[in-house]
Amino acid sequence: MIFNASHCWFCGKPLGKDPNNLIIFDFIEFLDPAPPEFERVGDTVVHASCLSLWDRRDEFIEVWNRALKEYFAGKQLYVDAAGNVRYTPASKWLISPSKRVQERQENAMRLHKADLEAQRKALEERMNQARQHAVSIGLADTANVDKILRDLSAEAFSKEFGRFQISRAYFKKS
Ligand SMILES: [Zn+2]
Repeated sequence: MIFNASHCWFCGKPLGKDPNNLIIFDFIEFLDPAPPEFERVGDTVVHASCLSLWDRRDEFIEVWNRALKEYFAGKQLYVDAAGNVRYTPASKWLISPSKRVQERQENAMRLHKADLEAQRKALEERMNQARQHAVSIGLADTANVDKILRDLSAEAFSKEFGRFQISRAYFKKS
């Protein structure tokens, strides 16, 4: 589905400029399984009036509030006396990631670091191949290979070695 950020998920009409009639969902993850349409609504901005009239409103609010609670203290959706869906006052919101969220974020960070480390290793490996290649074709010897590679322009170097697209900046750093 292509999401149109300026239109309400429920009625398809423009969201308009009345902040009191908008429900903006946070970029959070449902840590527990949620119905696909709830996940979709949670990725959007909708008219408060449309959400208020949704036949799955109460079920959605319960699931959304449970997800929200993992990230914030004091931020919840509720239905006011007139039947309109609202958020609790923003002054009460406090970012407060639960243990599950913290673990998830730490895990994502670990994976990211592992990924960076793998990329760094792959680059180093390509560098070593480039060095060996430069030596094997007689372009340099082991004593001056780094200097030779550094002195080559990135363009000439990549022309010479084809797939080794290595920037001049990298050589300057190493
Ligand atoms: Zn709407």
